[in-house]
Amino acid sequence: MSDAAGRVRDWRPNADGWVPAARHVPSPNFDARPEGMAVDVVVLHNISLPPGQFGSDDIEAFFQNRLDATRHPFFETIRDVRVSAHFLIRRDGEPVQFVACTQRAWHAGQSDYCGRQRCNDFSIGIEIEGTDDQPFTPAQYETVAALVSALRAAYPIQGVAGHSDIAPGRKTDPGPYFDWSRFAKQAALPLAMMPYRQAR
Ligand SMILES: [Zn+2]
Repeated sequence: MSDAAGRVRDWRPNADGWVPAARHVPSPNFDARPEGMAVDVVVLHNISLPPGQFGSDDIEAFFQNRLDATRHPFFETIRDVRVSAHFLIRRDGEPVQFVACTQRAWHAGQSDYCGRQRCNDFSIGIEIEGTDDQPFTPAQYETVAALVSALRAAYPIQGVAGHSDIAPGRKTDPGPYFDWSRFAKQAALPLAMMPYRQAR
């Protein structure tokens, strides 16, 4: 697959769980998945730092525990928070990878996917730079679709959920502006793989 600039991009994770198409920004905030645990769920999030602002390197700094707490009052409130995600998709569609897919990133917290607790154990977390109150960019949909398609080819992915689906009442992301229908179409994802999008 080529991107808009004509670059050939390899979205398939290698044996170590790193995606060549992504820029690699390793986070120390991960550990091993439970022995023998299959990677079979993708969780979509949104994030912005400072809240509501896009384009800085603050998210990358946050996931690397090097956020400058003096830069913004909000940063003081998260200075000791140790989290990560496997991927971040920036507003221009650029994919950034922080944790190998084979490892457990700390993105979901207390969570329940269709009755299965501790979703970090078995999921891949994708943060999309954005907020709950504005649309995501076409480039972000292209990247998330390409990435999820490649993850499905590499791992026994059986479902895709939003953070708000697996931590209701506690989390609201990726929020009402994430267009699940558009994503599903671009990623060629069957409805059966989106248990929280089906009529309940
Ligand atoms: Zn989230």
